[in-house]
Amino acid sequence: MGMDHRSLAFDLTRAAVMATGHVVPDPIRCVQCGICSYNCPLGLDVRAYAWAGTPITDSRCLTCGQCVGRCPRGALCFAPTAQPV
Ligand code: SF4
Ligand code: SF4
Repeated sequence: MGMDHRSLAFDLTRAAVMATGHVVPDPIRCVQCGICSYNCPLGLDVRAYAWAGTPITDSRCLTCGQCVGRCPRGALCFAPTAQPV
């Protein structure tokens, strides 16, 4: 029913990232505007992570993508990390 191998592979990759990945900031691109922190439904200080250039490993992060989608600088992305949650 429309589920070809390509889309299945994409879904599995996405699922793996969502399961093992974190929001990862690029501190060079970040201008510390705070839009990410403002839009995080859990109130996580995403801006501070961006300042430090460290993945958001806070276990409360839902990987909802609100911060990633709203950053005007494209400074946030999802990426697999080896760090424990
Ligand atoms: S929204 Fe983007 S540019 Fe603004 S503080 Fe967050 S990471 Fe930095
Ligand atoms: S992905 Fe969602 S829960 Fe996680 S830091 Fe960004 S806005 Fe907050």
